[in-house]
Amino acid sequence: MPFAGVDYYRLDELLTDEEKMIRQTVRDFVEREAVPIIEEHNTRETFPRHLIPRMAELGMFGATLKGYGCAGLNNVSYGLICQELERGDSGLRSMVSVQGSLCMHPISTFGSEAQRERWLPGMAAGQLIGCFGLTEPDHGSDPGGMETRARADGNHFVISGVKRWITNGSIADVAIVWAKTNEGIRGFLVEKGMPGFSAHDMKGKFSLRASVTSELVLDDVRVPHENMLPNVVGLKGPFSCLNQARYGIAWGALGAAMACYETALEYAKLRRQFDRPLAGFQLVQQKLVHMVTEITKGQLLAYRLGQLKDQQKVRPEQISMAKRNNVGQALEIARLARDILGANGIVNEYPVIRHMLNLETVNTYEGTYDMHTLIVGRDITGEDAIR
Ligand SMILES: Cc1cc2nc3c(=O)[nH]c(=O)nc-3n(C[C@H](O)[C@H](O)[C@H](O)COP(=O)(O)OP(=O)(O)OC[C@H]3O[C@@H](n4cnc5c(N)ncnc54)[C@H](O)[C@@H]3O)c2cc1C
Repeated sequence: MPFAGVDYYRLDELLTDEEKMIRQTVRDFVEREAVPIIEEHNTRETFPRHLIPRMAELGMFGATLKGYGCAGLNNVSYGLICQELERGDSGLRSMVSVQGSLCMHPISTFGSEAQRERWLPGMAAGQLIGCFGLTEPDHGSDPGGMETRARADGNHFVISGVKRWITNGSIADVAIVWAKTNEGIRGFLVEKGMPGFSAHDMKGKFSLRASVTSELVLDDVRVPHENMLPNVVGLKGPFSCLNQARYGIAWGALGAAMACYETALEYAKLRRQFDRPLAGFQLVQQKLVHMVTEITKGQLLAYRLGQLKDQQKVRPEQISMAKRNNVGQALEIARLARDILGANGIVNEYPVIRHMLNLETVNTYEGTYDMHTLIVGRDITGEDAIR
C-alpha cells in the first residue's frame, strides 16, 4: 500500500494545493527511489549518492532561497519535503539539511556576491556538495570553547584544528569551517584539495548509517581572505545556520515517526496472539493512540512554526521547542513501534529499528534534547541554567 500520510486532524485542509503537490512529489520519489535501496545502504554504511541529482531536480537543496537556481519555496513546503525525506531515512534529510541550511544559507546570508555566485548555483544543482564544521572532539554543546584557530597571514588565513562528526565531510567540495580569529569566531569556505585539509570517514556507527560522517583535519591550511564569510562575526553565524536546520528537523522527525506508527498499526492489525489481532488488546491500543496523538501535536507545532517563519516572526526559542518536542516524541514513538513488533522489531525487514537508531542521533545533533530544554527554560524564566 502506498503511504497515504497521517492526518488525524484534517491538517491537509490547511495546506495549499502547491504545498500538497510538493509533498506528493517528494513522497513518490522516496517511495520509488529511496525506500527500495535504503536498507542496503544502511547495512553497508553508505549514502545513496546516486539520488543527489534527483534531489536537486526536485528543488530540495536551498529550497527556500531565491535566485541562483534555488526553488524559492515557502517554509511550510520545505518542512513537508523534510518530513517526506525522513520517512525514508534520517540520512536523506540530514544530507538536505546540511547542504541547504548549514551551507547554502550562510553563503547566501553572510557571504559576498562572489561567493554566492561561485557556490550557490552548483550546490542547488547538486553538482557541488557542502558540509558544516562546527563540532570538535572536545567541544559539542559548547561550541564557544572551540580550539580551531585562523591566523591572519598577508592575504590568507592559516587554519588549524580538528572538526568531528561532520555530515557529508568526505564527499564535500566545500566545508564551512568555524574558527576563532583575533576578532572572534568567523566562517571560512575551505575547499576540497587545499593543502593540509583532509576528511576521514567515521565508521562503526549504529545510527545514521546511511549518511557520511567524517572528521575534518586542518593542518595549517592556507585559505585566501576572500574565502572568509565577510558579513558575520561570533557565534550568531553558526547559530543562525543551526536554527534553519532545526526547523527542518522538527518536520523531518515527524516523517520518521509516521513510518514507525504506520508500520506498527498495520502489524498490530495482522499479527494474532491469543486468537486475536494485537490491535484488539488495550495495552497495544494505548501505545498506538499515544503515537498518533503525539504525531498530531507535532504536526500542529511544525505547521504553526512554518507560518511564523514565513511571516518572519519566528524566534529561535520557538524552533528549539519544536526540535526538542518533535524529535523526543519521534524517538519514543519509534521505541513503542519497536516494542509492538516484538522480535520482528529488531530486524531490517521493517524500517522501525533503523528509524529508532537514527533518531538517537537526531535527538543529539543540532543541540541535544536537554540543551533545547535549557534554551526554552532560560527564555521563560530569564534564568540561564546552561552555565
Ligand atoms: C551522526 C552525527 C552527525 C553530526 N553532524 C554534524 C555536522 O554536520 N556538523 C557539526 O558541526 N556537528 C555535527 N554533529 C555533532 C553534534 O552536533 C554534537 O554531537 C552535539 O552538538 C552534541 O555534542 P557532543 O556530542 O560533544 O555532546 P556533549 O556536548 O559532550 O553532551 C553530552 C551530554 O551532556 C549534556 N550536556 C552538555 N552540556 C550540558 C549542560 N550545560 N547542562 C546539562 N546537560 C548538558 C548533553 O545534553 C548530552 O546529553 C553530528 C553528530 C552526529 C552523531
